[in-house]
Amino acid sequence: MDILIVGAGPAGSLAALNLKIGNITIIEEHQAAGFPVQCAGLISDECYESLKKYSRRCFVNRIRGAFFFSPNGNYIEMVGKRKGVVIERKILDVELLSKASEIADVLVKTKFVGVSRKGAKIIQNSQERFLKYDYLIGADGANSKVAAEFSFSRPEFYSAVQVEATFEPLEENMVELYFGSRYSDGFFAYAIPIGDGLARVGVVSKRDPLTFLRNLIDKHPSAAKRFKGSYLELNAGIIPIGLNEIVNGVDGNVCLIGDSAGMVKPYTGGGLYYHLIAAEILGKSFPDLELYKKRYLEKMGKEYSTGLKILKLYSVLSDSDYNELVKLGKDLDFSKLDMDHPSSVLKIMPTLIKKVALKPKLYAKLARHLLV
Ligand SMILES: Cc1cc2nc3c(=O)[nH]c(=O)nc-3n(C[C@H](O)[C@H](O)[C@H](O)COP(=O)(O)OP(=O)(O)OC[C@H]3O[C@@H](n4cnc5c(N)ncnc54)[C@H](O)[C@@H]3O)c2cc1C
Repeated sequence: MDILIVGAGPAGSLAALNLKIGNITIIEEHQAAGFPVQCAGLISDECYESLKKYSRRCFVNRIRGAFFFSPNGNYIEMVGKRKGVVIERKILDVELLSKASEIADVLVKTKFVGVSRKGAKIIQNSQERFLKYDYLIGADGANSKVAAEFSFSRPEFYSAVQVEATFEPLEENMVELYFGSRYSDGFFAYAIPIGDGLARVGVVSKRDPLTFLRNLIDKHPSAAKRFKGSYLELNAGIIPIGLNEIVNGVDGNVCLIGDSAGMVKPYTGGGLYYHLIAAEILGKSFPDLELYKKRYLEKMGKEYSTGLKILKLYSVLSDSDYNELVKLGKDLDFSKLDMDHPSSVLKIMPTLIKKVALKPKLYAKLARHLLV
């Protein structure tokens, strides 16, 4: 049985590593995996525990929680059930692919351009060729050509931009999240410390993330004072947000995995944990692709729907709502929060709702968007 995986990002390599049967070929349009980097590298410790059997060298920093900043510069400390780890994606992607190459043929500088009766049409060394396959797995990222070729539905995209900046974090092991209309329209900005006075600083937004990033660097009441003037490694990318892609992204002997399938936490933009889960489920279900979809939706469907509700809130909450939330949230217990599982947010809702009961507008927004 010939299995063709398009894309040598984490989703493609993890899919190969979890498949127990078949002759696997991975094709990658670039010379190497992990290029260009479009990732802040923040994952949960649980996700890191699963990935470290493939790559330990990718470890960069440990994270114990997050500071949640309101637009006026006040903040609360959120330390949840799960801790975080910052990794280096360039290293992770290369090491994942190297492990995958022990069980799969890897063809780099090979681009998937479509399908015909002869198989998958690829371009390699400027030559068009065909590769026969029994199963085709599209792990070719947010702009998936496989998804387009099979007319799978496409997600909504958010834009992201990120730099490595010289920055003085409030704490070396705490992520900083910046909310408010100056720093994103419908998402948030972040700073993730990576040691040596550096942090990955970025913005996810519906439009024009660079303007929001400039606002953060120049105008944020707390963060702006802590930038030290050097900006390295600017990178930009898109974040697919959706559930339709996995719902529709299986057709006979073709399926999607990773960003191509919109497998991203809608309220953080983090993809790696979801890819890991999907690859394990794919491996256990293969070659029954409908079963793969069904099991993935059973495990993750609720997380998507809660994650999408939280995402909606980012667009609905005003700057004064965020200021109020941070004021009210000072002594909230976040210990049940789990960064990989948005449904855990519901566990703090009863206490939060009690606290906002005296703020009818804010109460109505939270109740309308999170409780229904
Ligand atoms: C700024 C930013 C920050 C992020 N931060 C985090 C974070 O902190 N934590 C986290 O978990 N996630 C984060 N993410 C999301 C994460 O980076 C993605 O979810 C992840 O990279 C997707 O992996 P993938 O393998 O599905 O796709 P990709 O990593 O995009 O890999 C797809 C591969 O397919 C190849 N390819 C594409 N088209 C073709 C073709 N036609 N033929 C052959 N090869 C092809 C590409 O070259 C690429 O190598 C972030 C994303 C962005 C943009």
